[in-house]
Amino acid sequence: MMSIRVSELAKELEMSNAELLSALNDLGVSAPGPAAMVDADTAQVMREMFGKKNGGKVVEVEAGATVKDLASAMGVAAPELQKKLMSMGVLAAINQRLTMDVAQKLASVYGYTVRLKVEQKPVAVAAAPRHKAPGGGPQPRPPVVTIMGHVDHGKTTLLDAIRNTNVVAGEFGGITQHIGAYQVEVDYEGHKRRITFLDTPGHAAFTAMRARGASVTDIAILVVAADDGIMQQTVEAIDHAKAAEVPIIVAINKIDKPDANPERVKTQLTEYNLVPRDYGGDVECVPVSAKQKIGLDELLEYILFQADLMDLRADPHARPSGVIIEAKQRPGSGPVATVLVQEGTLRVGDNVVCGIAYGKIRAMMNERGERLTKAGPATPVEILGLSTVPDAGDTLEEVKDERTARQIAEQRIQQRRTARMMAGAQRITLEQIAERIRQGETKELRLIIKGDVQGSVEAVVGQLQQLPQDEVKLKILRSAVGNVSEDDIMLASSTGAVVVGFNVRVDNPAHAAAERERIDVRTYQIIYELTEAVERAMKGLLAPVFEEVALGKAEVRQRFQTPRGVVIAGCYVTEGKIVRNADVRVRRGRTVIHTGKIESLRHLKDDVREMAQGFECGVVVSDFSDVQVGDILEAYEMRQVER
Ligand code: GDP
Repeated sequence: MMSIRVSELAKELEMSNAELLSALNDLGVSAPGPAAMVDADTAQVMREMFGKKNGGKVVEVEAGATVKDLASAMGVAAPELQKKLMSMGVLAAINQRLTMDVAQKLASVYGYTVRLKVEQKPVAVAAAPRHKAPGGGPQPRPPVVTIMGHVDHGKTTLLDAIRNTNVVAGEFGGITQHIGAYQVEVDYEGHKRRITFLDTPGHAAFTAMRARGASVTDIAILVVAADDGIMQQTVEAIDHAKAAEVPIIVAINKIDKPDANPERVKTQLTEYNLVPRDYGGDVECVPVSAKQKIGLDELLEYILFQADLMDLRADPHARPSGVIIEAKQRPGSGPVATVLVQEGTLRVGDNVVCGIAYGKIRAMMNERGERLTKAGPATPVEILGLSTVPDAGDTLEEVKDERTARQIAEQRIQQRRTARMMAGAQRITLEQIAERIRQGETKELRLIIKGDVQGSVEAVVGQLQQLPQDEVKLKILRSAVGNVSEDDIMLASSTGAVVVGFNVRVDNPAHAAAERERIDVRTYQIIYELTEAVERAMKGLLAPVFEEVALGKAEVRQRFQTPRGVVIAGCYVTEGKIVRNADVRVRRGRTVIHTGKIESLRHLKDDVREMAQGFECGVVVSDFSDVQVGDILEAYEMRQVER
């Protein structure tokens, strides 16, 4: 059998192209459009799922069904299925997930046809005519798009170019102002369609929102300058979009430049598991020039195409709710906030709460400053009438009256106070994740890994991947060279991940962010200790452990030796304090040459318990006589991590 075009297969199966594409998409088969080819096996699966000629017995399973699921659906013993699988050359555990075609082959042995149980999102509905307005229930809504990428690659220029060419025509002739988001209108397959762009470019905003639990973006546009290629923030943006499981469309920008090299960008993308469509993958790469307005229509079309695959819907008749995109105090009008409506239709006069702010909506404006009386799903509007300025990422809900709104807001203020007081106990630590794993509440451990050199990063990742993952999956969201940075913390914060570093430091902004976001950051000098901690966490075995707390640093300025051969380091305390009996690390340059304890601590002739910054002292480090002038002593203590 040969591969077949989607459109032909759709005809054969008496389905619409969109229906078939959506079904393929549900199965994880990438098929960009009706002209795409699907291989013979996939086509067969589709025939078996949707073919009308199949009179035989049908067994319904969910996507990702296991051997056990299929067995029980067919009323067959699971071990028997395993044996059958073995005879087909597949060694599978009872909880192994089956691909659709293996499930199909297996079922056919018993005379069954496998059909995919589609929940909530029936294939037929997915392809229902858009833009008809049936009485109620979820209806198609515009996609919400965020533009990300490296600095200077053209995010702002692209946002402006799209806004200026396609803005929804209004009576003020399209003079737009910045409210944090805007909508454009595009002619697509004979319909007027809208796309909502969040116009705070960059992943900092994206991640900050996600860290607060708000998922706003449906599709990420990754802007990569064709003359510059993939840079650090491009990689960060990729990590964020992947962690959020948001599909990526790549806009290869600045193709007007003489040194533009779009092919190089595509090759680079493959290194990050983003395989461009014309390299056989499923990532759409659209060459554009934001400056010369080239390729913008194609980009918008791909966004709508992707949106259709996702079948984005919201119910305009539901109780209105949304997310705050940005908010500020405006002199003269009080607090103003931009809301992206997510469900329902928001109206002037509605009573709302968002975070600790509440109020009756006095007026609503779109990005052209036009007054609106109502705003449906995916519409960004600026609202007036709130009691105070909410935070970006706060959700907005409609409530029945102003009194209720105020009560909820007041309760939240109270809760925030309590939460702040208890904040110490709230951060997500590896131990807490271990506990959740033990309780069966979590089946995934998410990690961000930083290492000093590429080799060590690879070694750490390699060893971690060898850990058994039958019970708990290990998800490495980022593995990169360099100190732990603020961006690592933000990624961890938005995904509930733990940051582990190998032979790296946590830079200052990252420290502050980790405190603020309450992120567990662990650094190790020995790979084995790192992998062991992760392994124990995965097994739910991690007992309360101790965390290193830095006490202070001292620089060795002299070396003495007593007649009995005891070596004393004459030190000057440069930071914090040095404490007798504390643990100590001796660093020479960047290398740690010894770890031990502060065995004795003297100031002039006296034994002292501790010595503060700016003082000189004599230190004996346990089991260490090789001290040299210039060595740095780092005193620390191991404190039990609170739960
Ligand atoms: P951002 O930091 O990603 O928002 O980048 P900007 O939109 O501020 O663009 C950075 C610079 O690249 C500006 O000088 C733009 O004029 C320029 N630029 C943006 N897009 C293009 C393009 O398509 N072609 C050329 N030649 N320059 C561009």
